[in-house]
Amino acid sequence: MEAPLLSINNLKVYFSGEGDDIKAVDGIDFDISNESIMCVVGESGSGKSVTSLSVMGLVPKPEGYIADGSITFKGQNLIDFTEKEISNIRGNEIAMIFQEPMTSLNPVLSIEVQMVEQLLRHKKISKKNALVKIKEMLEFIGFSRTEQILKSYPHELSGGMRQRVLIGMAMLCEPELLIADEPTTALDVTIQAQVLELMKQMKEKYSTSVMMITHDLGIVAEIADEVVVMYAGQIVEKASADDLFKEPLHPYTQALLKSIPKIGETTRELYSIPGTVPSADNFPKGCRFAERCEYAVESCHKKMPELREIKARHFVRCDLVEGGEPDNG
Ligand code: SF4
Repeated sequence: MEAPLLSINNLKVYFSGEGDDIKAVDGIDFDISNESIMCVVGESGSGKSVTSLSVMGLVPKPEGYIADGSITFKGQNLIDFTEKEISNIRGNEIAMIFQEPMTSLNPVLSIEVQMVEQLLRHKKISKKNALVKIKEMLEFIGFSRTEQILKSYPHELSGGMRQRVLIGMAMLCEPELLIADEPTTALDVTIQAQVLELMKQMKEKYSTSVMMITHDLGIVAEIADEVVVMYAGQIVEKASADDLFKEPLHPYTQALLKSIPKIGETTRELYSIPGTVPSADNFPKGCRFAERCEYAVESCHKKMPELREIKARHFVRCDLVEGGEPDNG
């Protein structure tokens, strides 16, 4: 079997504060295969964004630190890399796009200057050839008047155009892995659909794998090959997208699915999961979802459930789901 492009094993990312450490990510394992789209889903406070920052070597220091585990990219543990080594990979072999493109683009530089800089930072290529490549990329991402876009400053473009520019910029070096943290949250639904379609096309054209961070299962249904559902720093369910939507097994996943509006449904009030994610500096001893789980029994509050493979490649952290063995790695 082909080795995964990225393999995260027992990753723990903690933040030190005044009291106990904040366990933002608390022992997670997953792989991203070549040319696949993995969605990491969860509410805010689930640890999904900290996971993506860890892969990019961008966990804020000194308060944030990797307490344990490994992040293996193409056979090398990124955690052992020096800052210089990781910055050579960042933007080149692994690229990232964020929710609000305005924060990632420099407001005082034209798109041309920023795109040329991005390409020349990582590739030995003349400025003339860089411009040819950039124009090709702009055309690929759907811009017809490329000259006009290149001369523009970020504030002269709409939110959707900026996000497309940012995806194009991220893809200029043809990274093997694109990490996208809520890339469509700030966009309206039509533009959101265009951006998701563009990401699928990018995967096809450049054989790029995508790690998409989102709170929105609607987006997952649209784009994912594989899904990891995170809750309170842990993985509570992981499966192929087909299996997850066909048979969601964890009560948290089921509750997330209940909160998606359905087309044509106008009468039902939107479901929202009661309560909030427990505080990461004081997790309960038992199941971290117990306070909000409609199926919780006494034992759920006493013992932490293990992540178990219930069916082939379908893992769940809930003791009330029958079958499977604990997943010990
Ligand atoms: Fe709910 Fe108990 Fe399962 Fe946790 S272990 S998800 S509390 S049923």
